[in-house]
Amino acid sequence: MAKKRIALFGSTGSIGTQALEVIEANSELFEVEILTAQNNETLLIQQALKFNPNAVVIGDETKYNAVKSALSSTDIKVFSGEAALEEVADFDTYDMMLAAIVGFAGLKPTLRAVKNGKAIALANKETLVVAGDIVMQEALDRRVPIIPVDSEHSAIFQCLVGESRNPIEKIILTASGGPFLGKKPNFLVNVKRDHALQHPNWKMGAKITIDSATLMNKGLEMIEAKWLFNLQPDQIQVVVHSQSIIHSMVQFKDGSIKAQMGLPDMKLPIQYAFGFPQRIPSENPRLNFSKLNVLNFEEPDIKTFRNLSLATEALKKGGNLPCVLNAANEIAVWAFLRNRIGFLDITAVIEQTMAKINHIEKPNLEEYFESDGEARNFAASLIKL
Ligand code: NAD
Ligand code: MG
Repeated sequence: MAKKRIALFGSTGSIGTQALEVIEANSELFEVEILTAQNNETLLIQQALKFNPNAVVIGDETKYNAVKSALSSTDIKVFSGEAALEEVADFDTYDMMLAAIVGFAGLKPTLRAVKNGKAIALANKETLVVAGDIVMQEALDRRVPIIPVDSEHSAIFQCLVGESRNPIEKIILTASGGPFLGKKPNFLVNVKRDHALQHPNWKMGAKITIDSATLMNKGLEMIEAKWLFNLQPDQIQVVVHSQSIIHSMVQFKDGSIKAQMGLPDMKLPIQYAFGFPQRIPSENPRLNFSKLNVLNFEEPDIKTFRNLSLATEALKKGGNLPCVLNAANEIAVWAFLRNRIGFLDITAVIEQTMAKINHIEKPNLEEYFESDGEARNFAASLIKL
């Protein structure tokens, strides 16, 4: 059987590097066709020399020469700059894109791959948060499978296998609660980046780790779920489950609930997406039920973690509001990571930006880009960047 050729967008990140571990462990099934990175040219070069792709992209153009000369003894094509991401997404030499760029920047190349009929393993949730209607319609028109990598959505996807005729009553997204579970505003007001970057269960990139601490991550995931599984807002429930053993659940109309469980390890949803519909054997550690004495569940504290309410509002109102929420969040998290604003200011920036930007009920792609730009500018002006 021919190997599946993977285009790995965002190869130097947390998801990207774990995806390469999966590919390396299953080299009889998968090979790397494209690697892309924004800044980390050293790691990109190492990865390219090891996996010998057809092409690499380094986003930062000042690093093009370094990458080009390090790969000069190979026939790997080297590109740089933002537009190159779409250029390589147009290649017909790959079978599946792993969309593992972080943030809004992932939207254009992912949409391009969908338009080219490529299967997508989707880690970049922001793509669906910003323009879920356009991306999903395009995928439907071109019969492109979008297989979620986000662990909660992978769980739901796995629960739905074999259930295509059975409507969903609701889904239950589990949230770890992040490092500040149980904390109140008087504590959060003084929280600094290094503390917020310490997630109890998952080791992830900086942006999503802060999103997990503010619960924005779960808000973005509600919107992601709406598009992936064609749900109404009231069919999506969030429950805090601090052990991250149940990755999410689906409740069907007969009252039956299916859950997908396992130790928290992103390699599992990554390899599930790569191998679907096959489950690929792995040596990853197993969950031992006899050592697991309790699983906890509780309501999220939306009075303290108001980002979840803001995301719910965006989910319900739709249009360009999720795009605005996402843009303001990206700016606020960027500023928090640089100690420019406090933890609770993140929510304030998002809330004020959502109130400011004009609502558009059914934006086209250009209007999504405009809303993103306007929201970024306004959020930045609040922070005085
Ligand atoms: P990360 O910050 O570790 O890596 C991001 C990758 O994107 C890097 O390769 C970086 O070079 C690239 N990148 C960053 N900015 C870019 C830009 N402007 N243009 C092009 N490339 C750019 O992030 P991550 O934790 O791997 O997360 C990636 C995506 O997967 C995010 O959307 C995140 O929400 C989602 N996700 C991650 C996890 C996880 O466990 N890390 C879990 C679920 C979902
Ligand atoms: Mg997740």
